[in-house]
Amino acid sequence: MNKSPYLDDLQLKAELDRCLSCPAKPCMYSCPVHCCPQEFIKCAKEGDYAGAIKSITSNNPMGLTCGLICPEQFCMKACVRAKIDRPVRIPAIQAALVKKYRQKTSHKIPCSQRQSIAIVGAGPAGIAAAWALVQAGYKATIFEKSAHVGGALRLIPSARLPEGTIEDDWSYIQTLGEVSVCFNSTIDDPVALLKQEFAGVIMAIGDEELINLNIPGEEHIVPYTEYLAHPQRYARLPKIAIIGGGKVAFDCAMTAIDNHASDVTMLVRRALSDMKIDPSELQQLQQAKVHIEPMTKAACVQKEDKGYTLETISTTFVQGQWQEVPDSRHKRTGFDLIIKAIGSKSKPHITHPQVIYAGDCKNEGSTIVEALASGIKAADIITTTKSS
Ligand SMILES: Cc1cc2nc3c(=O)[nH]c(=O)nc-3n(C[C@H](O)[C@H](O)[C@H](O)COP(=O)(O)OP(=O)(O)OC[C@H]3O[C@@H](n4cnc5c(N)ncnc54)[C@H](O)[C@@H]3O)c2cc1C
Ligand code: SF4
Ligand code: SF4
Repeated sequence: MNKSPYLDDLQLKAELDRCLSCPAKPCMYSCPVHCCPQEFIKCAKEGDYAGAIKSITSNNPMGLTCGLICPEQFCMKACVRAKIDRPVRIPAIQAALVKKYRQKTSHKIPCSQRQSIAIVGAGPAGIAAAWALVQAGYKATIFEKSAHVGGALRLIPSARLPEGTIEDDWSYIQTLGEVSVCFNSTIDDPVALLKQEFAGVIMAIGDEELINLNIPGEEHIVPYTEYLAHPQRYARLPKIAIIGGGKVAFDCAMTAIDNHASDVTMLVRRALSDMKIDPSELQQLQQAKVHIEPMTKAACVQKEDKGYTLETISTTFVQGQWQEVPDSRHKRTGFDLIIKAIGSKSKPHITHPQVIYAGDCKNEGSTIVEALASGIKAADIITTTKSS
């Protein structure tokens, strides 16, 4: 079985042929960075792969990573082909083209502006800001508290985002212009950077503060950040509960399955149709025999001699909001591990005209392509202010 996340040549051709070349380009207008599938697919169909790559990379600095993980809610949701049978698999096409045909350029964009801009955070928003600044002729310096680029993307399991993918996009960006990165550098005071050589600061620090469930026994629950960063620490635990119903919870559930768990339950506070995962991911969970319990929330965790007991409450949607169903408490016993995958929030922001926030720290819990769009917009604000 082909386990590669990339389309092979035949699959790529078949998928390219499905595109209707819609003149109105609805797929482009639904993409937060305005990548144009209509254009890059047309180029690829005509054998103009350089043109296809130019079309993708002129709008998207992380074309490869986006191709592998962009959710279906953007370009694919707008795809007209869905009216005939099913949408064109645009992200998969994008990933296959970039993987196969993107060449690293050796022509750096010259630094035409004397000003340097600081970017705090090397996740997608920070990377996109750096890319946009370099193209506008600015020098960009990224300060990143960890030792890697990629931010939250690094928690995505390699089955979905193979190792080296982020670096592939990153090394392409570095060939374009002067971007330096200071790793292991935590910036707590962005205004201090303005007192150094920097004319502006883009804060792209993500939303790393975990949200509390505020339930008794919460200290026994393992956060997704710990679980996904070190899954081997929790290998071979048979019975696992995951609290949450989005992409992060999906990754926790599939990691648990890969880690040989035999009984994985997802507790989802809202309805099945509200889960923020693609239909294909729901199918994967079902195939892996993950029990999904919608309209159920965690109420209490207790440590027992062996494992944990989890008490849950059913929820219902009444008068525009989710409420608890009276007398619906239910005790579930024998869990070896309970994981919290309900998202996170950003640290408080400071207000300063030369400090601009971008990405998940601005629009909590978004997607890679929205974080990229936000980083590009922040760079645009800085360059427009500086040139006016
Ligand atoms: C498990 C998981 C699965 C996901 N799956 C998908 C998916 O399938 N599709 C999708 O589109 N999106 C997905 N996402 C969401 C996506 O990863 C985020 O939306 C995106 O990474 C946000 O980018 P960002 O640059 O705003 O923030 P982040 O990626 O969080 O990057 C912030 C960076 O800032 C650094 N930083 C923080 N504070 C400081 C400081 N004070 N000084 C210096 N550096 C600092 C951090 O170390 C980090 O590198 C997933 C996220 C997770 C966690
Ligand atoms: S909407 Fe779909 S079919 Fe139409 S151009 Fe875009 S990808 Fe092709
Ligand atoms: S960047 Fe993502 S959303 Fe935009 S066209 Fe490409 S795959 Fe679709």
